[in-house]
Amino acid sequence: MGKKVVIVGGVAGGMSCAARIKRLDDTMDVVVLERGPDVSFANCGMPYYIGGEITDRANMLVQTAASLEKRYRLDIRTRHEAVRIDREKKTIEVRNLESGEIYIEPYDVLVLSPGASPVRPPIPGADGPKVYVLNNLGDMDAIAAAARNAKKATVIGAGFIGLELVENLRRLGLEVALIELQDQVLPPFDREMTQPILQELRLNKVDVRLGKTAAFIDDRGVQLKNGARIESDFVCLCAGVRPNTELARDAGLELGVRGHIRVDETMRTRDPAIYAVGDAVETADLLTSEPTAYPLAGPANRQARIAADAICGRVASYRGTQGTAIVRVFSLTAACTGWNEKKLKQAGMPYHRAFLHPMQHPRYYPNAQPIGVKILFSPQGKILGAQAVGAEGADVLIDTLATAMRTGATVQDLEQLELAYSPQYGGAKHGINMIGYVASNILNGDVAVIDPDEDAPHIQWIDVRSPDETECGMLPGAMLVPLDELRARTDELPRDRELGVYCAVGLRGYIACRILNQMGFKARNLNGGYRSWTWYHKPDAGSLPASCGPCGVKSAAVPAPPAGSAAFLDCSGMQCPGPLLRVKEAVSKLAPGQEIEVAASDPGFAADVPAWCNSTGNTLIDISVAGGRYVARIAKGNAPVLQASSGVLPGNKKTIVCFSNDLDRALATFVIANGAAAMGSDVTIFFTFWGLNILRKEKGPSVPKGFLDRMFGMMMPKGASRLKLSKLNMGGIGTAMMKHVMRTKNVLSLPELIASAKANGIRLVACSMSMDVMGIKPEELIEGVEIAGVGNYLGEAGASNVNLFI
Ligand code: FAD
Repeated sequence: MGKKVVIVGGVAGGMSCAARIKRLDDTMDVVVLERGPDVSFANCGMPYYIGGEITDRANMLVQTAASLEKRYRLDIRTRHEAVRIDREKKTIEVRNLESGEIYIEPYDVLVLSPGASPVRPPIPGADGPKVYVLNNLGDMDAIAAAARNAKKATVIGAGFIGLELVENLRRLGLEVALIELQDQVLPPFDREMTQPILQELRLNKVDVRLGKTAAFIDDRGVQLKNGARIESDFVCLCAGVRPNTELARDAGLELGVRGHIRVDETMRTRDPAIYAVGDAVETADLLTSEPTAYPLAGPANRQARIAADAICGRVASYRGTQGTAIVRVFSLTAACTGWNEKKLKQAGMPYHRAFLHPMQHPRYYPNAQPIGVKILFSPQGKILGAQAVGAEGADVLIDTLATAMRTGATVQDLEQLELAYSPQYGGAKHGINMIGYVASNILNGDVAVIDPDEDAPHIQWIDVRSPDETECGMLPGAMLVPLDELRARTDELPRDRELGVYCAVGLRGYIACRILNQMGFKARNLNGGYRSWTWYHKPDAGSLPASCGPCGVKSAAVPAPPAGSAAFLDCSGMQCPGPLLRVKEAVSKLAPGQEIEVAASDPGFAADVPAWCNSTGNTLIDISVAGGRYVARIAKGNAPVLQASSGVLPGNKKTIVCFSNDLDRALATFVIANGAAAMGSDVTIFFTFWGLNILRKEKGPSVPKGFLDRMFGMMMPKGASRLKLSKLNMGGIGTAMMKHVMRTKNVLSLPELIASAKANGIRLVACSMSMDVMGIKPEELIEGVEIAGVGNYLGEAGASNVNLFI
């Protein structure tokens, strides 16, 4: 007989280790102690059993104790708990949980694979009868039973398991609320990369509450600290896990700062007779070799294999963990490997980043889908981490990048990788090669990038997309110069300002930058294009009109509406702006008020269609997801649901009342107005009382006036250049300083902002009543100002969704 090995924990790490030991050396006597009733069960599959995707509970048991004993001649003892280790005597005290008997089991080698337990945060009521965690098959059965009789559920924690549960509870038709302490879902990702996931959750009618804390849980639901109440029939806690290391701690084994068992590269603890693997241990981080811990099944299984090899006398070493993980959230997949940007920043490690949106296969082949990718790399090109989100293909991209990272490949090496290609699967310019090209372009200075989160008020944005694409929105103050017109229109571009060039995802922006830089302009390409920019700056992406109906996640396909009802347009497989161009064409053929239902598979469509409807004066009645397709119901023009008084849709219109002639207030007025116009809004500024002075010509014609009117005219500033600051004017010094600072920082002056407003089609309306009171004549106002009464303003304001008084 060989050595006697006792293993604590009979699931991922424990059972892998046991089976490998027996495969390597059948003479070993292996005892597995498992306190639960099952061994080798599929913990990762549990959310899908709850949601009904896995229908046969027997499939959750990858192996049974009986089948394993038979195949490997293992001694498996379920419902047996290891309670104390005596390292000197090399024995372990075991409690039989069925009989209560306690006995001593000797060992030559002990392997600890006790896993981790869900954290129950210290929320009053968190231990209540309707509050569940998901750690074993018993928990799974309890949640499945609770869901059967429930209408509403709340999940606390938006990590991997939390999101899996959310999806599966929605699948069962429950109303689901998701509460997350942080201001994002999926904390292992950088926030902007989670925006499509947030959108996906909201499209699937999940009530997501970010940055919120539960105050207490009771029988009827959850009370948040901000006073909001979430009614629910039961609550699932998915607030992270804590390693089960009491046994190791009591035995005096060394633990790390977060309580994980310390092991060497053979998975051996400081005690040469004790090994440890899985969620309970900390191992070296692949990048830094610092201790780290990721509760993931892949590392647990690999560590178990290394431990078994070492126990059987083989030379083996565990080469660190990098945290490669993946999750499906309804129609999307989010995957990551290595470090995220938050962690790099915290550690002060120098890095570059590239954002891309490669297609999972060529556009010409049906159902091409974009994958949002962020890659982080060192100034030398070493891959530090990557994140990807998309409908299909994110898994392949991240696995390839994880492999490259593991083998020490650089972003330059990615350019050279030869990867399988056929139109169904990838591109001849594979997404991985593209990531290499883009990252290398940044490193070797082929193009300078401007990051979407960079504070760049001095930048003149140049949008090189086609005009149709801009209907979903533009960057504030951007000039539209489509790429193919760029060479002919360079005289319109300012030479004294740095240009920030962008397209939809970065490729045309890159080409434009190459052209402009060779012509002597200073141009930088927006990293990841407009799409990445919206992930930073449009946190409301995916928010839906209030009229949206219930979710249809259960159905497998989008049925076309019956003949004679709303028109139906299938844009599946098309890429943005393809669906919007088709929608535009189809809507143009409809009669006012007539509806069309549009199905698209590009998740970008779901984010873009609300903006498109707003900017084109059409009505988004509803948007939902079904069978992986996004279905928008659009009414031509101002359909009854969102009808506005003036026939213009709310959401597309902004009104500002400018009452002041203070320079700072006037600046604020025009900055906001230009920004809104650039984002597709229809803007009206209504100038009244002192605000009228902004519109006065500096050298107006002499017009006949009475004494009081003349006095008024002399006392008030004449035009935009003569205004003073509301505060710190200090006899004009403060105002001069402000103008100087604005000039040096390349901020447009007030007259320039007014010119830009006129060019952007902003309506400048002077209040006729105020003009009369203040004795200002129409001839004294700058060109292009309309004169109208209060009724006109009220009509505009009634049709707008933002009305500011400055
Ligand atoms: P476990 O597999 O948890 O096994 C530990 C076992 O030890 C338990 O059965 C426990 O009862 C037993 N035990 C503990 N203490 C004692 C004791 N004193 N005496 C006897 N027995 C004891 N990872 C992924 O990579 N991808 C996924 O998709 C994924 N999905 C998941 C979904 C869910 C719902 C859960 C809960 C986990 C998921 N994981 C996933 C994590 C993955 O399951 C774990 O990382 C992995 O199982 C860890 O293996 P382990 O051997 O360390 O612990």
